[in-house]
Amino acid sequence: MARPLPPILRAPWSADAVDPSPPAAEAIDRAVEILKRGGLVAIPTETVYGLAADALDAEAVAGIFRAKGRPSTNPIIVHVADVAMAMSLAGQWPAAAEAIATRFWPGPVTVVVPRGPRIPDIVTAGGATVALRCPAHPLARRLIADSGLPLAAPSANRSEAVSPTTAHHVLESLGNRIDLILDGGPCAKGIESTVIDCTTSPPRILRPGPLSRAELERAVGGPVAWPEATEAEGPLRSPGQQARHYAPKTPLEMRADASDRVAALVGEGRRVGWLTSRTDDPDVRRLAASRDLLIVPMPADPESFATRLYATLHALDQRQLDCIVVDEPPDTETWRAVRDRLHRAATR
Ligand code: AMP
Ligand code: MG
Repeated sequence: MARPLPPILRAPWSADAVDPSPPAAEAIDRAVEILKRGGLVAIPTETVYGLAADALDAEAVAGIFRAKGRPSTNPIIVHVADVAMAMSLAGQWPAAAEAIATRFWPGPVTVVVPRGPRIPDIVTAGGATVALRCPAHPLARRLIADSGLPLAAPSANRSEAVSPTTAHHVLESLGNRIDLILDGGPCAKGIESTVIDCTTSPPRILRPGPLSRAELERAVGGPVAWPEATEAEGPLRSPGQQARHYAPKTPLEMRADASDRVAALVGEGRRVGWLTSRTDDPDVRRLAASRDLLIVPMPADPESFATRLYATLHALDQRQLDCIVVDEPPDTETWRAVRDRLHRAATR
């Protein structure tokens, strides 16, 4: 018999409230119950929605891999209440991890540190390190505090697909594969956390994200390296850094010559979605008259662009387009995380 769709519990928690609203408190209790018996709960965080399970229960974590169709070689980030909980799961706590966690937690940065004996193999894909993060979203934090459990939580979507930034996106991607969805509204950051390996000297960013290299360098008081290679240059050292990831079903192209490309595609009779922040540009205005073209105005600053990116891709995937074209953002550090996601989304 097919499993039923999971309940979506609305769990509003306004930014200035110390305690959860009554519906949020009830939803958290229900989620804690499910997590304690080894179930799967989708939860809002400030980055994207996560699919959470008890990180110390190997069976429960195996459920995450099954629900997502995630390769067993891709390790999962463990979400903690604070530095003390992080240290209880680490084999060692490097100075760089301490500096970053003290400065930015709760927040959108994940530290990779030597793994302690409590972490099951499946969480780290058998590796000697574990990735730890303390999320800022009050619901996620309360859930960890009330359950007393560290939560293994990758993004709450089928493997390789665009990450969810609303409860509805989770339902569309994972539906009856999970036990409960907590709806805490749209995610503030909209892209996944910055991941930094603190086991090397200097520490190295494995995945660019909302926190920039400059901010991390200030916190550690020294240099921070970029990943060893990009997909264009060769294989990546870290597990799970697949080239294709975060991809919509509709083919996507990131183009420096977007207006020419869009004009050519529309000329061939293709239906095109175009993400551009140059809505006043004469090229864009000229093309806007085309019936087969959907122009989606995007913010011109990287943070707002990131917040909107996945919701835009989810929406365009519903529109039966032949192609999505995105203006290539500037090749600068502040756009690094967005460029990384677009690059992976464009890889087929
Ligand atoms: P997600 O599945 O979207 O939550 O992304 C998790 C990211 O963290 C993936 O890119 C993983 O490869 C990375 N990650 C998790 N654990 C580790 C680890 N122990 N070492 C290196 N990278 C990790
Ligand atoms: Mg993911």
